[in-house]
Amino acid sequence: MNKIRCYSCSRELSEGSLKYVVEVKSFADFDGYLEDYSGDVESGMVELLKELEDADQKTLEDDVYQEMVFILCKACRDKFYKGLLDTSDTIGADREIKDTIH
Ligand SMILES: [Zn+2]
Repeated sequence: MNKIRCYSCSRELSEGSLKYVVEVKSFADFDGYLEDYSGDVESGMVELLKELEDADQKTLEDDVYQEMVFILCKACRDKFYKGLLDTSDTIGADREIKDTIH
């Protein structure tokens, strides 16, 4: 059986020990605003489709949505929360994060 290790510090997390699954999701936000486009819409669409054809599929997906899952020990989980958004503030359950989403 594979040993489970903390993703951050590599400490072995034995069976039954306290460990945390941390899921991180980020996705592109759309606020409903489209810049005025003064050119020919049809040729603009053709140009955009050509750019999409040439672009790497994985890069396009990562630009829109990313999801990561880590298993961390308690110490690294606590450090992770403290380091979020490069601030010493922890995100409290009562803080309305949704307010920042349109
Ligand atoms: Zn750790």
